[in-house]
Amino acid sequence: MITEITPITHATQVGTLFDENYVCGFFDGDVILQKVLEYIASNTSDAVIITKKSSAIGILTQKDILRALCNFDNTGLPAKDFMTSPLHTYDASMSISDVLDDIDDTVYNKIIVKKDKHIIGVIDKRELHSLCYAQLNPLVKHEYNMIHSLMGLVGEGERGLLKMATTDVLTGIGNRRLFEEIMQAHQSLGNKYDVPLFLLLFDIDNFKSINDTFGHNVGDSVLKELVVLVGKSIRKSDIFIRWGGEEFAILLRYSEPMTVMKIADQIRSRIDKNSFKTIVHVTCSFGLTSILPHEPLESIFERADKALYRAKSDGKNVVRMELP
Ligand code: GH3
Ligand code: MG
Ligand code: MG
Repeated sequence: MITEITPITHATQVGTLFDENYVCGFFDGDVILQKVLEYIASNTSDAVIITKKSSAIGILTQKDILRALCNFDNTGLPAKDFMTSPLHTYDASMSISDVLDDIDDTVYNKIIVKKDKHIIGVIDKRELHSLCYAQLNPLVKHEYNMIHSLMGLVGEGERGLLKMATTDVLTGIGNRRLFEEIMQAHQSLGNKYDVPLFLLLFDIDNFKSINDTFGHNVGDSVLKELVVLVGKSIRKSDIFIRWGGEEFAILLRYSEPMTVMKIADQIRSRIDKNSFKTIVHVTCSFGLTSILPHEPLESIFERADKALYRAKSDGKNVVRMELP
């Protein structure tokens, strides 16, 4: 049984969806398929976890069983012969949106939730989508209000001008002006839906010597290539801008600081490992902070800058976080 918790939002931890009454079927891999078939036929769940010496080794879904039943002789064979393995599990503390973000990029349909190394529940991807869908309307409205207030800055016919004024000419991403407008909208609307916002600031290491050694044009191509590379490492909903010079900012919405730290480090490592067309090696230093509702931009940047400064003084090519 899925617990009736209201309201379930995309920030809800997946572990809280299962209460003590929730029963997850566990079967030893050597049990014959017929036994699992009988269990699934008389229970509401449509998947069971397959174990070996009490540790979970795979999952057997209704679909897997239907496929196996193409040959009725299979019902006498061990269940493990038909399971999907290895298990792709999610920690109970992860938010619904982080889980969906991850699983949407995979072929998996069943979300297996683990707490302290124990499986506490299995939920279908579609079911999870529909669980938080009911709460999506106010969220969409919130985003709409934000865009609307941005658009309200200029009249209908001046949208092209707005785009021009908020785009960085060299790299094509947003500029500081766009960022300031978005932050202003956030300050006035607040962060009503409980999904924390984070600011990730980063700066190319030793960029002056790249310019000095290879010339300004090479420096410019590095900036452009870096923007494409980072753009591929973030979600479409993240706001990526050039703050100025060789400094960039990304606004991200995630439920946990540690998730953002992980993402920041993935971006850092991707840059570190990339062979730039123009020169061999480029690294960046990163400063991360979370944003409080209604917090002024200067105070957010002061903290992110402090984290970035620490990253530079700790030897560069690292991520540092500074929380409010
Ligand atoms: P650190 O590792 O401490 O960040 O050192 P750095 O050399 O990267 O930092 P510094 O602030 O000393 O130098 C930044 C350089 O970035 C100086 C400036 O000429 C260059 N720069 C700023 N904007 C552009 C640009 O649009 N194109 C090019 N090619 N260079 C730029
Ligand atoms: Mg700089
Ligand atoms: Mg620099």
